[in-house]
Amino acid sequence: MPETVDCLVVGGGLLGSALAYYLVCSGSTACLVEKDQLNQHASGRNAGSLHFQLEYRMIEHGLDAAKKAAEALPLHLDAAREWSVLSTRIGESIGVLQSGGMMLAETSEQALLLERKTELEHSYGLENRMLSSDEIHQRAPYLSSAIVAAALCPLEGRANPRGATLAFATVAEEFGARIRAGIAVTGMKQQRGRWRTSLSDGSEILARKVAIAAGPWSARIAAMAGIALPVVPIGLMMAATVRVAPFIKHLIQHAGRRLSLNQSAEGTILIGGGWPARLHETGGVYDLDLPPEILPSSIQGNLHAAVSVVPRVGEIPVLRIWSGATLLVADQLPLVGALPRRSDLFIATGGSAFTLGPTYARVLASKILEKPVDLDVSRFDPGRFVSLNNA
Ligand SMILES: Cc1cc2nc3c(=O)[nH]c(=O)nc-3n(C[C@H](O)[C@H](O)[C@H](O)COP(=O)(O)OP(=O)(O)OC[C@H]3O[C@@H](n4cnc5c(N)ncnc54)[C@H](O)[C@@H]3O)c2cc1C
Repeated sequence: MPETVDCLVVGGGLLGSALAYYLVCSGSTACLVEKDQLNQHASGRNAGSLHFQLEYRMIEHGLDAAKKAAEALPLHLDAAREWSVLSTRIGESIGVLQSGGMMLAETSEQALLLERKTELEHSYGLENRMLSSDEIHQRAPYLSSAIVAAALCPLEGRANPRGATLAFATVAEEFGARIRAGIAVTGMKQQRGRWRTSLSDGSEILARKVAIAAGPWSARIAAMAGIALPVVPIGLMMAATVRVAPFIKHLIQHAGRRLSLNQSAEGTILIGGGWPARLHETGGVYDLDLPPEILPSSIQGNLHAAVSVVPRVGEIPVLRIWSGATLLVADQLPLVGALPRRSDLFIATGGSAFTLGPTYARVLASKILEKPVDLDVSRFDPGRFVSLNNA
């Protein structure tokens, strides 16, 4: 007999693990199926930066594009609150430190852009302010003297990408979630009001509802249910230095370059910020199981950006460079809710989904459980893409 659950969660990254936790905490039965190991992909390969300000990629195309991206700020405000209580709920291994984040400017144009961005963020209620040059260098003496302005968001910081997913999965399991790693979902069909899903070990699961928490593989899982999603996988790279005594207190970002940098609790400096890595592809189909190819130009560009704002980074050996895949939604806004024409098939993805993962999970759990949702996410409803799904 197939195993029967209220909700099947496909994917064991941060989103899937957190979702399984929120579901079982509310008394639902949940089974999480992960094709590889828990936390093996983007959730365990990212920088753990908690971004609440608009990121460089959201402001680089001007204020109108930034205004569009800002529609997701209510989720970021929620995420700032959510992360601040997770250590108590889930455990210290989640590694949250909200010691503030600075977005930097090296030119007067960038400084002006930062000011406009800060005004936009204020209109959504984000706590964020411009710092004078003196204040910047008092607070962050490790920054280059070329930095002329900065926007400080005291809520930003980091969490531990190696610990967060596993911490959620452990607590979810303690509350009764069933977690099956090393098994892929290979197909699903609707049968008498349930999803009958096939797994790679030959077994099946009958679920009243299915949640897609499959990151860049999400479109493939949705396609199993006959739904098209306008999402695009992208490859990113990042670098980590050897451990050094703590000297970088903030999450550092830049208003004019791709850069995100923080120092982990262990002393490693994590350097990323959206530098591309090339996805492997055969016959026009991306092979998302292979880590994207790291491009020398990205390594060079990323490290150059890091050293120009934190010169001491140039003296610290880089220990490791790696890549991972994440996903963008065509309109750059998150997808959170039931899929078009499939009221029992759910998804959450898009954006900086490490930062937003716990918020996505809590909101999605409420939707799955048909409970009132404590945050207005109607703007992010996947139903906006119903026109791609006529049948
Ligand atoms: C290099 C890099 C740096 C980043 N830095 C940051 C950052 O600093 N801050 C931030 O907020 N975000 C960052 N991100 C983005 C962030 O990591 C991701 O958005 C987030 O981790 C997505 O989590 P997820 O759980 O949705 O997906 P994933 O972590 O990708 O997990 C999806 C899981 O689904 C599983 N799966 C897929 N198909 C199947 C199937 N058929 N059956 C069963 N399981 C399946 C996969 O094996 C995978 O484990 C970064 C991403 C990368 C790649």
